[in-house]
Amino acid sequence: GSTIGIIGGGQLGRMSAMAAAKLGYRVHILNPAATSPAIEVSASATVGFYDDPVALEDFASRCDVVTFEFENISVEGLSLLEKRRPVRPGGEILRISQDRVLEKTRLAQAGVELAPWKEVSGPADLSAVGELGFPLILKTTRFGYDGKGQFRVENAEALSALTDLPYPLVAEKMIDFQRELSVMVVRGSDGTVRCFDAVENRHRDGILDITLAPARVMPEVAERAQAIAMRIATDLGLVGIMGVEMFHAADGQLLVNEIAPRPHNSGHWTMDACLIDQFEMHIRAVAGLPLPPARRHSDAVMHNLVGPEDMARVPAILATDGASLHLYGKHEARPGRKMGHVNTLFPRGALPGELALEGLLPPRG
Ligand code: ATP
Ligand code: MG
Ligand code: MG
Repeated sequence: GSTIGIIGGGQLGRMSAMAAAKLGYRVHILNPAATSPAIEVSASATVGFYDDPVALEDFASRCDVVTFEFENISVEGLSLLEKRRPVRPGGEILRISQDRVLEKTRLAQAGVELAPWKEVSGPADLSAVGELGFPLILKTTRFGYDGKGQFRVENAEALSALTDLPYPLVAEKMIDFQRELSVMVVRGSDGTVRCFDAVENRHRDGILDITLAPARVMPEVAERAQAIAMRIATDLGLVGIMGVEMFHAADGQLLVNEIAPRPHNSGHWTMDACLIDQFEMHIRAVAGLPLPPARRHSDAVMHNLVGPEDMARVPAILATDGASLHLYGKHEARPGRKMGHVNTLFPRGALPGELALEGLLPPRG
């Protein structure tokens, strides 16, 4: 087929659409609003809600194969689509990734290690979570992103003082991590699995701030992280790309935090540091094209541009030697909104030290 349908109109859809266009495909978007970052770079769009059968039928009729950039689509909507067109990855993986309880249960079945956790479906389950130890973190099972819907609990006293929580929740032990790592893994329908190098992520106000590629860990740790990601991709029968977030714990264990079966912010460094980036890998997998090895030609630092403060830095970033700027075409820079990102490249093995990291981009205003 020659038209790729993408559910969701955000920046991940935009960059996927640009990768699809590079390979000669047409792209058709499904999005509730008539203008969006992805629609602006695509051939056409169905404007409608993700669970509206009429919109879904129109969308399906205009695509040969369907993928999604946005995880909060109803499973019912996706299964309607699956009756009409191949959906990659499939609805079952989406269902798992939408719910932290299903996700953790399934990941444990796949044989990977997780932070100790407990299901908290209502107030009656709350007292038992103390068994995990403190500090711990409560997370809504669904719809959380950028750290929203999370509550850190320092001790038993704070736990017993909690009221009016948005159940259902999961409780997790807070992991004393050395680093947060992630791996982008892609799998084709023929079972080929490819994996980008493990990277290191730093957050700011709950939002990804900086990704360092590769992660500054021993090769053995990086290889273990990749093996975990590949194991999950194979176990779930993934077709497409997936981000796997992990904690590199103080004791050296790698604990999986969550998966995202789609292109992922922590894979944006691949746009400049790899000949074939995460978006092209994803489109290749969705379209049934060959998947060459996920090779990195350079080291890279990715900085996210978030909200009006970072947009104010754009003129200075444009004038910075060595900074590759990517903007998402969002018309309004609300606080906390991801507006773009910047990749800075280094020869392999020459990532800057901790102090030099801060000086890579012009300072925040
Ligand atoms: P995303 O935008 O990545 O989807 P999210 O809202 O789904 O975020 P998580 O990734 O679960 O949330 O958590 C956000 C961040 O909070 C993590 O990247 C990590 O920094 C911190 N965090 C979450 N859970 C734990 C934990 N169990 N131990 C230590 N830190 C944690
Ligand atoms: Mg998440
Ligand atoms: Mg996360």
